[in-house]
Amino acid sequence: MSEISSFSNVPEYFGCNVFSDTVMRDRLPKNIYKAVQRTKQFGIALDPAVADVVANAMKDWAVEHGATHYTHWFQPMTGVTAEKHDAFLSPSSHGRVLLEFSGKELVKGEPDASSFPSGGLRATFEARGYTAWDPTSDAFIKDDSLYIPTAFCSYTGEILDKKTPLLRSMNVVSEQALRILRLFGNTHASHVMCTVGAEQEYFLVDKADYDKREDLIITGRTLFGAKPPKGQELEDHYFGNIKQRVSDYMKELDFELWKLGVYSKTKHNEAAPAQHELAPVFTTSNIAADHNQLTMELMKKIARKHGLICLLHEKPFEGINGSGKHNNWSLTSNDGQNLLDPGATPQDNMQFLTFLCAILKGVHEYAPLLRLSAASAGNDHRLGGNEAPPAIVSVFIGSELEAVIEALESGKKYVSNTAEFDIGVDALPNFKKDTTDRNRTSPFAFTGNKFEFRMLGSADSISCTNTILNTIVAEELRQFADELEQAEDFDKALKKLLVRTIREHKQIIFNGNGYSDEWIAEAEKRGLPNLVSTVDCVPLYTRDEYVALFERFKVYSRVEIESRTEILLENYVKVITIEALTMLDMTRKQILPAALRYSKELCDTALVKQQIGLDNALEVGLASRFSALTASISENIQLLDDKVTAAQSISGNEAAAKFCRSDVFSVMQQLRKVVDELETIMPAKDWPMPSYTDLLFNV
Ligand code: ADP
Ligand code: MG
Repeated sequence: MSEISSFSNVPEYFGCNVFSDTVMRDRLPKNIYKAVQRTKQFGIALDPAVADVVANAMKDWAVEHGATHYTHWFQPMTGVTAEKHDAFLSPSSHGRVLLEFSGKELVKGEPDASSFPSGGLRATFEARGYTAWDPTSDAFIKDDSLYIPTAFCSYTGEILDKKTPLLRSMNVVSEQALRILRLFGNTHASHVMCTVGAEQEYFLVDKADYDKREDLIITGRTLFGAKPPKGQELEDHYFGNIKQRVSDYMKELDFELWKLGVYSKTKHNEAAPAQHELAPVFTTSNIAADHNQLTMELMKKIARKHGLICLLHEKPFEGINGSGKHNNWSLTSNDGQNLLDPGATPQDNMQFLTFLCAILKGVHEYAPLLRLSAASAGNDHRLGGNEAPPAIVSVFIGSELEAVIEALESGKKYVSNTAEFDIGVDALPNFKKDTTDRNRTSPFAFTGNKFEFRMLGSADSISCTNTILNTIVAEELRQFADELEQAEDFDKALKKLLVRTIREHKQIIFNGNGYSDEWIAEAEKRGLPNLVSTVDCVPLYTRDEYVALFERFKVYSRVEIESRTEILLENYVKVITIEALTMLDMTRKQILPAALRYSKELCDTALVKQQIGLDNALEVGLASRFSALTASISENIQLLDDKVTAAQSISGNEAAAKFCRSDVFSVMQQLRKVVDELETIMPAKDWPMPSYTDLLFNV
């Protein structure tokens, strides 16, 4: 930490480990720098000679900053990042070495792809894959290596990562949004960017406690744990003052992120004890995705330096709020307009309403896709659990904006608190965040000048969600543009289109309490799907209409979607199986033996008391309760063991996943219930692992 106090000047060290635009401008000949800019903006491939110059400048800069290696950094479908490091070394004569890095090495890498999930896309014998430089995300130095952000593909062209589809989706939404801007008379903008700010929640627990919990070590969440006497009911943690140890951790985390050019901005305590949040300033979505990966990685790594463990699991503790990741999303044209900002003139208002309607229509038509973009075994514990949004996708736009939409639909004037407005003729009042952001239960909320998608779990990569969001919005904008470009009278045609869209899709708007039972019933009436778990939504990925959507824009091919579906389901099966096996191991090796030891102690005491003529009703009563509980545990162990074995013999990921959900998971819950009851009557010193109170209040 002493290092930090010497860095009092943030602007001085912000991004000091990034091969940024400024560094490039300083170090590259003008024509080369311009060529890189063209590659960044228009995706034009770099000339090999130019790539050589860039690579050499990168290498010189990296070596000056202490790097010895370089790595192509990519995001395989594991959801985390992957890297393989090569030294800059190249042998020269007389047993000496040169430091070299060629344009070829910069632009393309060839990692062995056989050990990454491919969902059947690529057999091991044709394992070759390659990584391709993504020049729009800056290279950086970490742990003495130069990290080059890349996309990862198979040699036959199928994508094997989460970044390539995101980059493709960014281009398609840009293209379609530009068509709409042109219709509104904008001739300047040449590009529309998707901007994203991902708020990241996490827990910190003491490492010494963590080390004693097999479940946390292996699965990232507690599989057992009786409810602590105090949870979050006093609401004293949210925005509460930050403990010194946590504050030191946050400081170092910010410092390391800033050096990597990550705009970490806000930090605070979250609703649950031991829970915290970090929010960055938004940036272009592929960079936001890279930065979020870096953030999660550094969160974990730096915690260990402070004797802490950072838990990114979506639900580390039952009965305590889990952790999410809010994906704030908007579209911004390169002439500086946030397209989701209502704007100040009637013209801007109409343009905003056009984008708003396209989004409403997209979310309504493709709700299951958004839902499945946040699906995982871990996140199943949150969605629908009265802490995170429900599993039903709906859109919150606030009552004022809803009134505007209604006025537009009915052709009447919009009446606000202050005045009457004729939509399309008068300038509407600005819908500030404080009048739009009161609902925290909505999965997709308009918050003044952006939408906030709140379904994602804390451990998720944001790439899939943004790929889907960009693609569905592109599709709706395409349909709008197709219709409007043909129109003889643009204003008339636009109004007609918007009115029709509102009429057909306003069922997706819901401004009420998403946690209420009435909403579940109401949503069903409206025909909005309630896809409760991963196994309910992931198989829908391959619906023909979704495949057609992705193929139209060349974001995914059918086989690519099929492979992603398989990976998601297979992952679900693996996670549940690992959790079940961990439960069995802990129960057999730690919990049951501890219970039996203590129950022997009780029986011994009861016996002695009987011999000397004392009343032993307490010991006998307790001992028989232990007998009943341990017998029930033993039965559930057997049952769970059988279910896991049965699951392993099922062929096909979808069938196996469904069985895991219906059979394995339910027995896990049953076993947990009995063990948690046992914990409440065992002496603390005899319980073989730290309790919820230890974990949640020890830091
Ligand atoms: P909260 O949702 O916790 O109330 P804020 O509204 O302040 O917090 O911001 C949440 C996140 O939204 C931040 O990461 C911020 O950078 C991001 N954000 C703000 N404007 C945009 C935008 N135009 N596009 C994408 N993200 C944005
Ligand atoms: Mg938020």
